[in-house]
Amino acid sequence: MHELNATKRIIKDVLETCKKYDVKQVSEIVVRVGILTSFEAEPIKYYFSTIKEEYPILTKAKLIILIEDSEIYCKTCKKENIIKNSYLMECPECGSDEVKIIKGQDVIIQEIKRGTK
Ligand SMILES: [Zn+2]
Repeated sequence: MHELNATKRIIKDVLETCKKYDVKQVSEIVVRVGILTSFEAEPIKYYFSTIKEEYPILTKAKLIILIEDSEIYCKTCKKENIIKNSYLMECPECGSDEVKIIKGQDVIIQEIKRGTK
């Protein structure tokens, strides 16, 4: 169910961007999904393929989901590390949990490709 809301938000953002840049037809949308969101690519693609039918501008659009690893900054050893396990929030170098999340909590629209009619 979480993915449904995420998909709706993606579509809303894409439609707003298309309006802003006067895009009439979309051929491809590339979205980066942070691993910490715990969203899965398949449900998002499924919801997208259903909802897009309501919008003529999106009917030909293909959705590409890139799952993005998380990146944390350790305040103890002052290093940045990539985290592939979304449940364990500690520094892989020193084990400290004094970490700051830099990347991996967001859903980001990376690219919207304009389609030709
Ligand atoms: Zn550390």
